[in-house]
Amino acid sequence: MQFIDLNAQYLRIKQKVDERINAVLQHHRYIMGPEIDELEQKLAQYVGTDFCISCSSGTDALLLPLMAWGIGPGDAVFTTPFTFIATAEVIRLVGATPVFVDIDPKTFNIDSGALYDRVKQVAAENKLTPRVVIPVDLFGLPADYAGIDQIASEFDLLILEDAAQGFGGRIDDRRAGSFGMAAATSFFPAKPLGCYGDGGAVFTNDPQLHSELVSIRVHGEGRDRYSNDRIGLNARMDSIQAAVLLEKLEIFPDELKKRQKIADSYHQQLEGKVLTPGSPEKFHSSWAQYSILFENTHSRDINRDNLAKHQIPSAVYYPMPLHLQKAFEDLPYKQGDFPIAEDISSRILSLPMHPYLEESDIIKISSLISQY
Ligand SMILES: *Cc1c(COP(=O)(O)O)cnc(C)c1O
Repeated sequence: MQFIDLNAQYLRIKQKVDERINAVLQHHRYIMGPEIDELEQKLAQYVGTDFCISCSSGTDALLLPLMAWGIGPGDAVFTTPFTFIATAEVIRLVGATPVFVDIDPKTFNIDSGALYDRVKQVAAENKLTPRVVIPVDLFGLPADYAGIDQIASEFDLLILEDAAQGFGGRIDDRRAGSFGMAAATSFFPAKPLGCYGDGGAVFTNDPQLHSELVSIRVHGEGRDRYSNDRIGLNARMDSIQAAVLLEKLEIFPDELKKRQKIADSYHQQLEGKVLTPGSPEKFHSSWAQYSILFENTHSRDINRDNLAKHQIPSAVYYPMPLHLQKAFEDLPYKQGDFPIAEDISSRILSLPMHPYLEESDIIKISSLISQY
């Protein structure tokens, strides 16, 4: 059994993917070929934004808007400590200061109440300027954008949605990727929509931001390739990756339905044994991960070992919250600062989750799980 079965997906669309890749091998426009434009239009349409800017990774998709907005030293960027390192790494890369805020124990996403208090406090201290909040749609579940929007307008913050895992999720009929002033997603192979290498995209409705992102993506280019208006990056997506994504996007709505069915089935099998992930009303997860909570670390680790003994892979996302990482040791954080994130990280376990998981696999996995 596999944690994510990319081969089953490839076999389903092999012929079409191979044809698309072959088309790139024929036209040789490996960089910014026609697939890029086609993909950007289809992605923007799917998410429901005016613009999509494809790029080299989810990390660069987070970095590009921060660069465009001129975020830097002296600026506070608020985010969750319970996420992948990239979310906070980009804050450091532009020279700004990450300000962590604890999570909601039910959704594992940034707690809006705690965010309000922290932004107010940082504003009152007058050392850092509150500029941006990066909510993460963790495991596929969109963050509490109603709450975050209110705080952002009161304190004049920009919202950069980290939809690296959230792509395909929605609140009511609004899709993940459309909630911030800008949103970043990732097409790393293991994400809900993945390519065959690294890739990412930024979404926005802001035409000025769009043109700045397009420029920063290619060395800050101006009118033409050899006039440079600003410092940028080499952050383009390869045509081959766009070709792969175009075919995968075709089956993505069907795959989302399958993920939802699998989540429902896990829920049915596991309810009462462990805490299963729920969604607030009108929230729909893309089920990037299916993560359950045990009573304690011991119980989690015994279950993990037992699953491994039966050749069932599982993963701990994330074993160490970001405020405790060595990379951030110069920031004034210590154990105990974010008790909810710390507690959840000690008890959480993510189970195999992909659209091609069989019902019999779910039953087998679930029957092996118990609190001990
Ligand atoms: C995967 C991920 C990223 C980074 O995406 P890459 O494409 O790997 O650079 C950023 N944020 C979150 C929450 C992620 O899960």
